[in-house]
Amino acid sequence: MVKVLECERCGFKEYLLAEEKSYDRCPSCQSIVIAQEKNDLPTQLQEIINVANQNFVYRNIKTDNYSVFFDIDELYKTPEEVISSFEKINFYPFIRREKEKLFVILRSSPPKKGFSYKKNLILFLLTIISTTIAGYFMAVPHIEYGFITNPWVGAITFSFSIMLILGTHEMGHYLIARKNGVDATLPYFIPAPFILGTMGAVINIRSFIPDKNSAIELGLSGPLAGILVAIPITIVGVMLSPIVPITVFGESSLFLGEPLIFQLIANSIVNVAEGYSLYLHPVAFAGWAGIFVTMLNLIPMGQLDGGHIARAVLGPIYHRYLSFIVAISLFFIGIFTWAGWSLWGIIGLYLAYRGHPGSMNEITPLDEKHWIMVGIAIILFIISTMIVPIKVG
Ligand SMILES: [Zn+2]
Ligand SMILES: [Zn+2]
Repeated sequence: MVKVLECERCGFKEYLLAEEKSYDRCPSCQSIVIAQEKNDLPTQLQEIINVANQNFVYRNIKTDNYSVFFDIDELYKTPEEVISSFEKINFYPFIRREKEKLFVILRSSPPKKGFSYKKNLILFLLTIISTTIAGYFMAVPHIEYGFITNPWVGAITFSFSIMLILGTHEMGHYLIARKNGVDATLPYFIPAPFILGTMGAVINIRSFIPDKNSAIELGLSGPLAGILVAIPITIVGVMLSPIVPITVFGESSLFLGEPLIFQLIANSIVNVAEGYSLYLHPVAFAGWAGIFVTMLNLIPMGQLDGGHIARAVLGPIYHRYLSFIVAISLFFIGIFTWAGWSLWGIIGLYLAYRGHPGSMNEITPLDEKHWIMVGIAIILFIISTMIVPIKVG
């Protein structure tokens, strides 16, 4: 016989296995709770309990339609062992400590949809086309001034450079995900019919991050891999860019922001005198875009790359505060500087609202090596930041 407190409205149940309790309002939806005696536990719960018994000492068990909650007295096994034993029965345990209390929340594994490379391939080809067209339009003004003879050379070198930077960024995430046992898809490139010809690329993470150290690696891997390719591309691009008098530029010319890393590269290659400016070759534009993408991804908000890192360092509550503060700040920065930031602020509010599931094991602290990675991520963010990325005229 087992006693159960059950809410008929939302499906919340508490199985009284360890301590006697009684309440008549559901802790989750405040409806009336009914106490019942049952002969045995549901089969799936029995299976979960069998695994739980091998891993920790717990009290009563609470469930809702999505999760099973255990209040833990003591773990018998390491967090890694707890995770792997539940994964065998297709559950993901989230191990948490709040106010000195340990608990485990089990979620059933997200359904693994079959993976077809077709969509990745089609988007990849479309993005090659859209970035080539974008590169063509970047190259055309260079012909008028006699710097490029064939616009298709500019078009193809731009497309190749931007695809290489974005692809390397995403493959950085993909390989680190695989190394840490996280199920991730190959990159999806996003074609776009304007300026750069793409809105970047993404991978889908289809399982959960095992621990905070892995979350740091996952967040840093893309931006680090991407910038390591963007730097040599920027160097080549700047070498290909002519220096012209500023008077060449018309009212509709685009002026790009110069983050520290870009200034460092440009100043060590060319000497631009007062009244002159670099007329960016499409390859330099791709390098610049790679730096811009690095900054955008490292913004510490929601589930962006910087968000993974912030969540691992700050925990759930401060990660949430930070996400909202950054989103609201971006919105206001946009009013006074580049309007695009306001749009990012609005997207950021949604990301902040959605939050971050965190990694499964959040009780093992970050080790020294991963603190260094946090430092590298902060440095990358600083050297790639630009307040006004694009200005017209
Ligand atoms: Zn309820
Ligand atoms: Zn990324």
